Amino acid sequence: MRSIEPAAAHSGAPGPGRQGALSQQAPVTYLDHAATSPLRPEVAQAMAPFGSEVFGNPAGSHRVSRRAAAALEEAREEVAEIVGCRPGEVIFTASGTEADNLAVLGALRARRPAGASDPAVVVCSAVEHPAVLATCRAATTGLAGSVQLEVAPVDRHGSIDLGHLEDLLDERVALVSVMLANNEVGTIQPLCEVATLARQRAPGAIVHTDAVQAASFLDLRTEAAGASLVSLSAHKLGGPKGVGILVARHGVPLAPVVFGGGQERGRRSGTQNVAGAVGAAVALRVAARSQEAEARRLAKLRDRLADELAARLPGVVELTPRSLRLPGHLPLGLRGVDHEELLVLLDEQGVCASAGSACASGALGPSDVLLAMGRSPAEAREALRLTLGWTTTEADVTVAVDALAMAAERLRAGASAVGD
Ligand code: PLP
Repeated sequence: MRSIEPAAAHSGAPGPGRQGALSQQAPVTYLDHAATSPLRPEVAQAMAPFGSEVFGNPAGSHRVSRRAAAALEEAREEVAEIVGCRPGEVIFTASGTEADNLAVLGALRARRPAGASDPAVVVCSAVEHPAVLATCRAATTGLAGSVQLEVAPVDRHGSIDLGHLEDLLDERVALVSVMLANNEVGTIQPLCEVATLARQRAPGAIVHTDAVQAASFLDLRTEAAGASLVSLSAHKLGGPKGVGILVARHGVPLAPVVFGGGQERGRRSGTQNVAGAVGAAVALRVAARSQEAEARRLAKLRDRLADELAARLPGVVELTPRSLRLPGHLPLGLRGVDHEELLVLLDEQGVCASAGSACASGALGPSDVLLAMGRSPAEAREALRLTLGWTTTEADVTVAVDALAMAAERLRAGASAVGD
């Protein structure tokens, strides 16, 4: 039984009766939920009044502003309830990327008085999203005082090497940032163990987790409990794009990185996106309510997709064990198939997938995540990421298996003809 009705507008196999933006153009089999998930209808409905009658600036004092402020605070309470924190610990930002930037730079700046001589050490995993990794690298260039970056390696499955992490942790460490689940391969990190190690070996360190991908499937109240800073992004949950959340638990030092009117208790200035905050809260609530059933449903669909494809096509491997990854993730290696060419053929068939993380330029290079997992550049070029989500149906799986098998066979035949 489905726990969420698919939106007719968004996904599913070609068929009559589908309406909406995507299906008006062409039937789409959307298997790129890790890049972004379509807006849930409940979210769109909840956000609608804020595009029209509830337009006030929540900082004002008159009735129009008060309505907006009340909605913003309700959204904050809802997020706090789901994440397991106090409302005052919820900071709305303009993206998951901004939440990560605030966590890394804000924590380092707050911990490092200007002019402190010894470098503060930041430790992160080798498979962090660029929103964390690039920010940590930027921090070493003087953005947050004197900072030294240590990167903890991962194993072949993308799990952080806890022994190596332990060696990196000591009293000089100011921040440990380890994602809850990876965006490319879906690997869930042992965050509780990471937090315990940090407490034991680097008691002064702040622990941050990027839970942007994990939030759809994991109970943040327990799984992110070890982190003092938790980043989220609404659009991965069927919420609006351009809305992020940083949970900064009480007492955690955090300096702002965006300055201005002092909104969000001075931690993130800028007039809040009230519609976005409301949408994010509804998306989180809907995801949290259906989490277990949805995880089971998607894992079943994903396993069917992988099994049927492997039965049809030789040389298909899953890049990480199913037991270690999020239920919607299917990272595949297709022997002898270049993913750039494959994505073009799939797109022609209306199947939307990706080769790794969504990159602003659309350019594909060998995935840093796969290279960090010890895969060769050639293996990385054969990697495909299929990610299922709330709109995915059995029909999507059927279409995807056919399209993938045909496209891969065609590319392999082309390659062998060229080689003849
Ligand atoms: N962190 C992870 C793990 C992600 O997957 C993403 C988006 O792909 C981000 C951060 C950035 O979130 P946003 O797209 O809201 O900036």
